[in-house]
Amino acid sequence: MKNRKTFVTAVTTAIMLTMLAPQAMAETAQGAAVVATVDMKSAADSFLQQSAGEYGFKSDLSDLKHVSTTDTKAGSYVRYQQTVDGADLFYHQVTVTLDSAGTPLLITSDYVPNLTGSKSKGRLSANEAEGKALGHNKVKKTKELVSRVFGYTVENGVAVPVYKVTALDADTHSNWETFINADNGQIVKNKDLNQKASGTGQVFLPNPIASAGTKVGFADNNNADSAALTGQLKTVTLLGLDGSGYLKGDYVYAKQSSANSYSATYTYNYTRSSKHFENVMVYYHIDSLQRYIQSLGFTNINNRQILVNVNGTTADNSFYSPSNKQLTFGTGGVDDAEDAGIIAHEYGHSIQDNQVPGFGSTLQGGAMGEGFGDYLGAIWEDKLIAPSTYGNACVGEWDAMSYNSGGNPPCLRRLDNNKVMPGSWYGEVHEDGEIWSQGLYEMGKQLGVDTATKIILQSHFSLTSSSGFNAGAKAIKTADQLLNGGANAAVIDAIWAARGISTL
Ligand SMILES: [Zn+2]
Repeated sequence: MKNRKTFVTAVTTAIMLTMLAPQAMAETAQGAAVVATVDMKSAADSFLQQSAGEYGFKSDLSDLKHVSTTDTKAGSYVRYQQTVDGADLFYHQVTVTLDSAGTPLLITSDYVPNLTGSKSKGRLSANEAEGKALGHNKVKKTKELVSRVFGYTVENGVAVPVYKVTALDADTHSNWETFINADNGQIVKNKDLNQKASGTGQVFLPNPIASAGTKVGFADNNNADSAALTGQLKTVTLLGLDGSGYLKGDYVYAKQSSANSYSATYTYNYTRSSKHFENVMVYYHIDSLQRYIQSLGFTNINNRQILVNVNGTTADNSFYSPSNKQLTFGTGGVDDAEDAGIIAHEYGHSIQDNQVPGFGSTLQGGAMGEGFGDYLGAIWEDKLIAPSTYGNACVGEWDAMSYNSGGNPPCLRRLDNNKVMPGSWYGEVHEDGEIWSQGLYEMGKQLGVDTATKIILQSHFSLTSSSGFNAGAKAIKTADQLLNGGANAAVIDAIWAARGISTL
């Protein structure tokens, strides 16, 4: 993408310079004060000729086309394009950097010396090349005018005549650049210029206590690093980055006003005392959760880039806002975004709002929202620490160290407290969420986590903003009917009956 932009700009500049040249000369002729001007292009040419041996340039520079001369206060830059038979060799340029006195300082070169290859026989027309490129990429509707440029590319030291066809796909937003061999019509190269970048970073999987299998030796200590905490960092691949260098990609944008993480090499290794660490946690876990949901067959559940305000409040709380569709994680106690269980819980709220706009307007609906978030947090943690059993049926072990360090493991909430309707009903959504989360968690244990999660996500589509426990259980049974022909009906009935919730 960057390459292509540079190229286009360079060509434009060249045209403008040509147009401006007569005017510039006229001004010089009329100017009273004569300032000794240095011809940067000539100085650069001489320098290239002197350096020809080192870089393999032809001594007469006959295959280097002048593209532009850019003057700044500090110095000038002369840019050249390598050509073959007068046509561009795509993506092979040379620049000369000169100081303001015209002394050459630096050559930057993509020049390919000793190119072999022959002139194109011109068998393919530009129209035919465009048709092949669009067909190859299955582009049905182009968003921008397709461009076709004839030139050359290098394959194993040989100049190959090609049409460079670029097209913006209106359906997928892909920005295809396809090189078609101008003689035989073969695809030489094909890539999406918007191609996503992968990075690496360090995270907790899912949190230090769950991965260590013990709470002994771990303390928040006002966000300080410790050998024990650093020892629980794992290196992961960060997928879907947009290439900007920030933690911004297909499914999440981890934003923090005082610490937006930037890396030109997409490397994000921080320890937990750094503000940037939470950005990496948020990016990795939300991106991975969305990919997990898609792996279950859903491409229409919260399939979007969610903006996350990391460390966005000093409260020991985190929240999803249905009005702006953003997530916010707090720094009170243990930073919430240091615990994947908490990240998954909050992402659960955004999933439900995405599937059922306005969900949770009743107390039971609110409890189902909290229960689903806890389920997602618990199974996400379980997936990342399997086969360890420390912390099963428990969500947020690390987060809970700041308010429940006596628990073993410490938990934000549990999913096996055996709360039932109507006896355990308390009238507070997080407390009552444990009634719902236990039923979901039992489904995971008995049907397998992937099967259960698929049924549960499928069931949300049936719900309304005011749905409660009974509607939720019926929707779950119907989802199993749709997905599995009702194979799990008896298990589902039994699980919800144990919670005091009817599936009828
Ligand atoms: Zn919640």
